[in-house]
Amino acid sequence: MRVAFDSHAHLQDPAFERDREKVIARAEEAGVSGMLLCGYDTHSNLETLAIAAGHPAVFAAVGFHPHEAKDVTAEMLETLAGQAARPDVVAVGEIGLDFYRDHSPQDAQLRVLKAQLEIAEAVAKPVSVHSRAAEDACLEPLSAYAAGRGWAPGTPPVGIMHCFGGTLEQARRYVDVGFLISIACPITYPSNEESRRMAAGLPLEAIVVETDSPYLPPQKLRGRRNEPANVWRAIEAVAAARGESVASVAAATTHNATRIFGVTLPTKVGIS
Ligand SMILES: [Zn+2]
Repeated sequence: MRVAFDSHAHLQDPAFERDREKVIARAEEAGVSGMLLCGYDTHSNLETLAIAAGHPAVFAAVGFHPHEAKDVTAEMLETLAGQAARPDVVAVGEIGLDFYRDHSPQDAQLRVLKAQLEIAEAVAKPVSVHSRAAEDACLEPLSAYAAGRGWAPGTPPVGIMHCFGGTLEQARRYVDVGFLISIACPITYPSNEESRRMAAGLPLEAIVVETDSPYLPPQKLRGRRNEPANVWRAIEAVAAARGESVASVAAATTHNATRIFGVTLPTKVGIS
């Protein structure tokens, strides 16, 4: 049985309004037996919960994206804390810092990130982190959160650096404090040598894969909408970079994802 786990996608996005069920069915047919849907604002968090409720292969994460930070109120964080505590929510995300686009002031981004890390710590659930042009700025708050979770080498990781765009050396610093590194389909872009270096240089226990659908399609589909079935393109590229089989990378990344989210996969999904 060949299975894969897409550790970060946004199927609640309006891009999937018309054919969401077909997209999920295509993923399941392709052996994508687990998908984590990450919310990014109040509306998308509610949508995420609703979609996950109807699909055993779909798991929910709730959070406020750094772009939203300037509009996040104490009341919104209180609602989020309530949602994060629900048994059907497996992670807090997408949270983080984005100093590339700076849609929200950096101090607001830091305030909202720290508040959400406190929520994740209180409910003892992992985080899915967006870090863009903020790979150094994220390290301190994330290390503090990992310490608060009681993370130590050998214990399950406490967070994922989603579509990590830093260097292999920066990635190692996150692995050293309890984070997994998520590799997305841009690893297939000819220019993205660093992502392939990361895939080759990190231990397999530290890697998960994702699509970030509807964003970041693989090289052959550039300019088009991405979907979870394409997570295989990331797996194949990780396998090629490491000189390992697609099957072993698929098995390991699926294991890493189910372990961090504390979930078991529906048994009827998967391809032989
Ligand atoms: Zn995302």
